[in-house]
Amino acid sequence: MINAQLTLLLEIQDLKAKLKELRAGSDLGALERETFGIDLDEAASQLETRVEELEGQLSEPIRRRYERIAGHLDRVVVPVIAGTCYGCFVSIPTATAGEEDPNASLQTCEHCGRFLYILR
Ligand SMILES: [Zn+2]
Repeated sequence: MINAQLTLLLEIQDLKAKLKELRAGSDLGALERETFGIDLDEAASQLETRVEELEGQLSEPIRRRYERIAGHLDRVVVPVIAGTCYGCFVSIPTATAGEEDPNASLQTCEHCGRFLYILR
C-alpha cells in the first residue's frame, strides 16, 4: 500500500517531467505536430492545470516541503535503493529498517530533504 500523498507526489513529478518535454518539443517533431494537429500550448496548459489540481490535494506541511524542494531541485521524489538515497547518494539504512511496507508512510531524506520512494 503506497501512501496517498506519496502517490500524489509521484504523479505531480511525472506530469511535470512530461510538461518539460512538451515545452522542449523533444518528443514530437514538426511533421507529427502538423499531421496530427496537436497544439502543444494547449496540451501544456492542460498539464499545468492538472499539476495545480494535484498540488492542491497535498496536505499543508507536505506542500510546504514540496514547494521548498521543487524551487531548486529537479526531482522531489527519489528512489532509495539498497538503503541509499538516489537524490544525494547518502546511505540511509533507517529508511527501510523494520517496516513491513516502507512506502505506507511518507518518508524524507534527512540529508537532501527529498521525498523517498523505497525499493528493496
Ligand atoms: Zn537524499
